Amino acid sequence: MSIADNLARVKSALPDDVTLVAVSKTKPQSDILEAYNAGQRIFGENKVQEMVSKWEQLPQDIEWHMIGHLQRNKVKYMAPFVALVHGVDSERLLLEIDKQAQKHDRIISCLLQVHIGQEQTKFGLDANELMALAQKVKSGGFPNIKIKGLMGMATFTTNEAQVSTEFRSLKLHFENLKEILPDMDTLSMGMSGDYKLAIDEGSTMVRIGSSIFGARNYPV
Ligand SMILES: *Cc1c(COP(=O)(O)O)cnc(C)c1O
Repeated sequence: MSIADNLARVKSALPDDVTLVAVSKTKPQSDILEAYNAGQRIFGENKVQEMVSKWEQLPQDIEWHMIGHLQRNKVKYMAPFVALVHGVDSERLLLEIDKQAQKHDRIISCLLQVHIGQEQTKFGLDANELMALAQKVKSGGFPNIKIKGLMGMATFTTNEAQVSTEFRSLKLHFENLKEILPDMDTLSMGMSGDYKLAIDEGSTMVRIGSSIFGARNYPV
């Protein structure tokens, strides 16, 4: 199956109001162009350097999403162009994104990452940290940031009931947080292995890599 075929198959499984982020990390520019020529405009990367070099060389109407764990000292490189930062998991990181956004006279859209899975190694805010950060956003602490919603990753397991429960909890956080930040409209959850479950639980944005571009050759 070609990338264009894979893309068409994935898209046919998505409701119209669910946004597809094609996760192109580790993949060459030729693969991205193939998806681009089939109509895809939103791509997700998890390494800043890699995203910057793809941004420099690929069509300028691509929307680049940073989906990975982010180090503060790398924020400056993507600040001129990044369209959405999915993995904001600390106040210090949000402050740095705000500062760099200001330098470039931009408002940068961000999602707060919530820890929903069971793996200790996965990143994300807990419920208390989430509330505290949302309050600071509401009181104007980050003038060049727009919090668009939440992002989360379910546990890597074949237990679908568990995955669904975790996505449901993220959706609940999302609904609760809307009382503080009523403009939020984006719930980023679901990857190749679990996006159908995520959509059933209210996802509005899925991040899909291997189902479109094929397996990655090395772990990231
Ligand atoms: C790699 C990655 C994805 C896509 O994973 P696939 O299983 O290839 O669809 C989605 N979200 C994040 C945060 C990722 O790092």
